[in-house]
Amino acid sequence: MSRRSPPGEFELIRRFTQALPVRGEGVRVGPGDDAAVLAPPAGEELVATADAVVAGVHFDRAFTPEDVGWKALAVNLSDLAAMGARPLWALVCLGVPPGARAAELVRLGRGLGACARRHGIAVAGGNVTRAAELSVTVTAVGAVPHGRALLRAGARPGDLVLVTGTLGDAALGRVPGAPAALARRQRRPTPRLAAGRALASVARAAIDVSDGLVQDLSHLCEASGVGARIGVADLPLSAAARRLSRGGAAARDAALSGGEDYELLLAIAPSLLPAAQAAAAKARTPLTVIGRFVRGRGVRVVGPTGAAVAVAARGHDHLRAPSAL
Ligand SMILES: [Mg+2]
Repeated sequence: MSRRSPPGEFELIRRFTQALPVRGEGVRVGPGDDAAVLAPPAGEELVATADAVVAGVHFDRAFTPEDVGWKALAVNLSDLAAMGARPLWALVCLGVPPGARAAELVRLGRGLGACARRHGIAVAGGNVTRAAELSVTVTAVGAVPHGRALLRAGARPGDLVLVTGTLGDAALGRVPGAPAALARRQRRPTPRLAAGRALASVARAAIDVSDGLVQDLSHLCEASGVGARIGVADLPLSAAARRLSRGGAAARDAALSGGEDYELLLAIAPSLLPAAQAAAAKARTPLTVIGRFVRGRGVRVVGPTGAAVAVAARGHDHLRAPSAL
């Protein structure tokens, strides 16, 4: 890798790696060899995912280097949470543009390391290469008991649609002058790992909300071969979101299609609602019923009177702030 890498590559890798937890469960050989050697937990299956964050696409100058490192790992851990997995290891590929300062990359490593430590995982390896833009590509691996991974397929008509936490905060966090609590949801998302594991044995299907509630619910519906109906009045909004949009449409639109909430969206049989609520409470995670799965296809959003509500832009742009408050 040396010829394609920036000058001072080995020193940079050394300093970047210093900020990372490199030891952990099942890590036989960590960074420093040609590849990591990892021992899968006995009786479990591995769950693996990869995602990148790229300058100008997923983050901008509003992000500190620590934010970028945190978010690069957190978005991957959110996918593991949606599978009901326990996170174990991450591999990190850093794309470094000409002129990047070593101090900035060390700070990025600190943010990524903080997220890894918070969630008890080891960064077992990776690579640094020259690139046109700063980018961080993370591969995250977790484990689930054999045959117990929570999938998008499995929701049945009559099941409840539930979501963890609050929706729309991350999108509203991009509004200039947004309160720090909302901006933080945008830059330092919290993967719902504890809730994912606690709900894995209760839920029939799950997905994490990365692209926006309606879009991600559509993916779950498609995989399950069902439709869904959700109520606008039931959407969980934070107090900060309500205040910022003064009770207006911005909070509702951000909750429906804003994206990057990294909450979990779940299908749960009505008879298992008390068990789901108990599991979420144990994981200290708010859980809200927002609708039902129905026969058919597609997601219908209804207002308090039952009238259909049009959903604005589907498919969100990571760096676009909601246009109107
Ligand atoms: Mg996902």
